[in-house]
Amino acid sequence: TLNLKHIRQNPGLYEQNCVDRNYAPYARNGWRILELHEKLVARQREVVELRQRNNVIGGELKSGAAGKTSLVEEAKALKGRLAEYEREEKEVQAEMEQLALELPNLSSLQTPTGDKAEVLGHINGGTPPSTHAGKSHVDIGRELDILDFEASATTSGWGWYFLKNEAALLEQALIQYALSVAMKRGWQVMTPPSLVYSHIASACGFMPRDQHGETQIYNIGGGQQEGAAGAEKASLVLAGTAEIPFAGSQANKTLPQSALPLKVIGPSRCYRAEAGARGVDTKGLYRVHEFTKVEMFAWAAPPTPDTGGFGTSCSSDEAQQQTPAERLFADMLALQTEILTALGLHARILEMPTTDLGASATRKVDMEVFFPSRTAIDSGYGEVTSASICTDYQARRLNTRVRFERGEVKTAFAHTVNGTAMAVPRILAAILENGWVEEVGAVRVPEVLRRWMPGESGWIGP
Ligand code: AMP
Repeated sequence: TLNLKHIRQNPGLYEQNCVDRNYAPYARNGWRILELHEKLVARQREVVELRQRNNVIGGELKSGAAGKTSLVEEAKALKGRLAEYEREEKEVQAEMEQLALELPNLSSLQTPTGDKAEVLGHINGGTPPSTHAGKSHVDIGRELDILDFEASATTSGWGWYFLKNEAALLEQALIQYALSVAMKRGWQVMTPPSLVYSHIASACGFMPRDQHGETQIYNIGGGQQEGAAGAEKASLVLAGTAEIPFAGSQANKTLPQSALPLKVIGPSRCYRAEAGARGVDTKGLYRVHEFTKVEMFAWAAPPTPDTGGFGTSCSSDEAQQQTPAERLFADMLALQTEILTALGLHARILEMPTTDLGASATRKVDMEVFFPSRTAIDSGYGEVTSASICTDYQARRLNTRVRFERGEVKTAFAHTVNGTAMAVPRILAAILENGWVEEVGAVRVPEVLRRWMPGESGWIGP
């Protein structure tokens, strides 16, 4: 299901793509695939010749030819070589697939090359509400007795937390609010499992080790899979995002075109090892190991069913007309904008550069809100949402197809799109910091969340 042909026809393109996306260790994979393919083709030619010779020998033996013993010997040797070649062919195929699996998706034309994001716009004003450092959510949370990092340090260590009282209720309010906005926009609610097979995570672009060799996924080992071959396939990991179980839910399925776009949204607990994460985020809710996130995931038909040019995603035609996946992407950005606008949080919208795309995205747009306690880092902006178009990168690896009702092409790989609707801890931190009113020692709760708070209260605090 991987696009080996496209890779070996364009090894230079894949090499540059790896360099641009900070996947340098895999930059030569395309060339290696080409080399292996050439070896395979040469072998296949040899196999044809050996088979022909084998047939000839068979014929001669049947007709009672002279020198029978030496012919039998030759046939035996031929059989041995053919079996060896077959084994070798399987190994080479497996190596090519592994090399292709490791390659990241190709980047879209909209993606800036390098590590600088491009600002696409702002939400709730063009500049941050303040340039002065404000009180951190850690201090506010302690003062109002709604966050406890000491107790979690005892139970679980750094990077965990207890939400208490109004903070715990605010989490539920944020989930309810995000779901209510999404349902109005036609998203189907679904809650996913937290544990997934490691091969499903890999197929979505989350490898056991990332491109820097770090393990970002908690592996909990031996799950059981019906009919699974090999222990590795059966190992279970804690999902870092609902994107993984959502994407996996349609693995090995062919969706009728009439069922698309298929749009699901749901809350899940997300687990991140955060290996190599920097020191500035070691306190508070900004970077934690476990959190609740409401995630959107959608499947779309590929853009050009009749041309057969799937999976390359870089044609200039695509940049001009919106594909079904791009329309879903716009839908997600509109929903994210609606939520941040209603929460009254100042944000900037960023077209993410190639080094930020990870493995599966062809294009990624993040939204960053202003955190008063973080003015020393990135002028206070911190990422709260991310949306990605993955073209057919995940669908190829998961074997999710679309069946067309018309046209030459009967089936093709689906395109997938994912995006954050609500990443609870960061939004909660932003609400505490931006809503803090020093004079009253309390936090103002955004209007849209009040119906889910006790007594529909507009305040957290005295
Ligand atoms: P990602 O799936 O990595 O694109 O993350 C989606 C969103 O989840 C981000 O935009 C953040 O708001 C949030 N997020 C990611 N990692 C963490 C973390 N370790 N702790 C808290 N929130 C996170």
